[in-house]
Amino acid sequence: MVRRAASSEPLQVRFWGTRGSTCASGARFVEFGGHTACVEVRCGDRLFIVDAGSGLSALGAELGADAPAEIDLLFSHLHLDHVCGLPFFKPALLGCNRVIRTYCGNMDGESAEGALARLYAPPLFPVTLEQLPARFEHCGFRAGETLTFPDGAKVATHLLNHPGGATGYRFEHGGRSACYISDLEHGDPWPDPGLLAFVRDADLIIYDGMFSESEYPSCRGWGHSTWEKGVALAKAANVASLAIFHLYPGHDDAFLKAAEAEMQKAMPSSFVARERQTVSFAPREGGAVAQPANPAKVPAV
Ligand SMILES: [Zn+2]
Ligand SMILES: [Zn+2]
Repeated sequence: MVRRAASSEPLQVRFWGTRGSTCASGARFVEFGGHTACVEVRCGDRLFIVDAGSGLSALGAELGADAPAEIDLLFSHLHLDHVCGLPFFKPALLGCNRVIRTYCGNMDGESAEGALARLYAPPLFPVTLEQLPARFEHCGFRAGETLTFPDGAKVATHLLNHPGGATGYRFEHGGRSACYISDLEHGDPWPDPGLLAFVRDADLIIYDGMFSESEYPSCRGWGHSTWEKGVALAKAANVASLAIFHLYPGHDDAFLKAAEAEMQKAMPSSFVARERQTVSFAPREGGAVAQPANPAKVPAV
């Protein structure tokens, strides 16, 4: 949870990569985008980045040299689709006074340092992260702990059911909250009581809806869930809106629009996340920014 001084700035989420497993490309994949997991979360003016999939490159280009001097990058876990954008993050290449802190919670307290050092080294990659101008600090924790950052900001975390585990995050700002719940496979019964409590009364869940219920039987055990299970979780937890995320690379725009229409029959405020889409929640405390009636209607920009 983030508790900061009262601010009129919203809690804002922007999707820079919505795919899971690998990228998608081509004319049938324009509306929802092709990049893998990366989400920008703004608690007022406070930046968090969740996951460093290929979408991180575009976020880095947008931030450029104006990026904060200290950047907190929260990994759900270290599968390739969540780390492959890291060496292409422009703020890491600009200037040597920047600190990029990574947080990893699914490895019994071990940080991402060792795994990233193995991945980003010859012959797999020509340079190491240590050779980049920015300084990396890698922080390990155990999912379930609440993270406290150097500026006092706090973010709650939760362990997710995924091969090797993954970490879910809950961001709070101005009386609003958004949860990042990817990657996970649902269990039976569903919803899981611990996860239900973690996301309860949130304004938004970003949820791993890689498959539909009809596809799921042939994908059981792969570590991912369905949009139907996302709706069930959101409704049971009194969550206001739901963004389906970690999209299967084979699901094209037509498939996803049809799935979205079907999903909205069950939950009108749900939507399938689109690359570069922004969702804002005005603070309940202060009230200087108008709250959109339906976050799903916030246009992609
Ligand atoms: Zn993934
Ligand atoms: Zn994964």
